[in-house]
Amino acid sequence: LPDLLDIIGQGRAIAQLQQAIASSRMPHAFLFTGPDGVGRQSTATALAKILLCCQPTITNRSQLRQAGRLTELAEDFPVKQACGVCPDCKMMDTAGHPDFNLVHKELARYHEDASVRGRVMQELGIDVIDSFLITPAGRSPARQRGKVFVVREADLMSDAAQNSLLKTLEEPPPGVVIILLAEQAQQMLATTVSRCRRVEFGPLPVAFVKDRLVSSGQAAGEADFWAAFTAGSLGRALQLSQQGMYEIKRDMVLRLAGMGGDSAELGEPLAKAMDKLADSALRSAKQTSGVEMSKNLASRQAAGAMIELIASAYLDALHLRTGLAGPIGQPAVVNVDQMQEIQTLSQKFTNRQLAEIIEQLSQYEQLLWRNVNPKIVWDNLVITCSTAAELRI
Ligand SMILES: [Zn+2]
Repeated sequence: LPDLLDIIGQGRAIAQLQQAIASSRMPHAFLFTGPDGVGRQSTATALAKILLCCQPTITNRSQLRQAGRLTELAEDFPVKQACGVCPDCKMMDTAGHPDFNLVHKELARYHEDASVRGRVMQELGIDVIDSFLITPAGRSPARQRGKVFVVREADLMSDAAQNSLLKTLEEPPPGVVIILLAEQAQQMLATTVSRCRRVEFGPLPVAFVKDRLVSSGQAAGEADFWAAFTAGSLGRALQLSQQGMYEIKRDMVLRLAGMGGDSAELGEPLAKAMDKLADSALRSAKQTSGVEMSKNLASRQAAGAMIELIASAYLDALHLRTGLAGPIGQPAVVNVDQMQEIQTLSQKFTNRQLAEIIEQLSQYEQLLWRNVNPKIVWDNLVITCSTAAELRI
């Protein structure tokens, strides 16, 4: 379990948290927003460890063992850390502290009511929030320090769940701290957001993600690609690369660059790849959360990821033609490991054609989430890519 100060690339957020826990009126509800896989949950867990530690230490910022960290704070700022050796710290490290609670939508599977257990887990419903947050928050802590609740995908909370949680967010029982994790706050009720101390997490530096991927055993070319493709989300880069997606992507970009007008040339291998991805997503969901994911959801997610990969090649080609820079802090070309293919793609189309293909692909991605059959989306996508190839100049 990483300590708060071991979390890299989120200095501003960590400094904000240190300021919050040092203040005499520490907030009891936090909202961590930012992309997936940049360290929100690790940070929440590390914060919980400090809050539950029975003998936390205080060190002036300039004397920290992790020299040079948190320069956002004054040199003599009293930085709080978990001791790492007390029984509470030991329990946190072994993922078994009785006063630490992770709340997520898959908990519906463990609800005492069978009808809740059977429900499709698209949202984080009121039953889960009541049974796994509001009710246990009202009980006394098992140890002396208090209780911490971390709510994953809090932006998927239904309005009813959020309304039911308002009172607890406003005035939690003594010693209770609630940390909501969300990608964006816009989807949530303003009343929920306004009751929380907001802490924003940005994407990680691409070079940092690449280094981590290389040290986890990836070849440099593959690591370059995933770090750029996920725009600094280490968690997502690790997840996608473990699903065997890299070989699929290489093959796909190769086909796109060399493709003629025959849609079967693209269609069949891609349909196969999508099935493989969906299966692998099903397996990994089972492994990481012990929960069955629906085949339908897995197929949609796999198709979404594939469309995103295909779009990245066309976007790269457009960037190459126009000399446009990438988003702030991100490289302009994502498929740096296949520059020759991207070069070929960029010579095949006009700027306008590329922009149209990209727009079309993004519409297909949205259709997937409006319950359109992935098969239909897929057929259309193949037509878009192959028709565009016929239009080549
Ligand atoms: Zn401790």
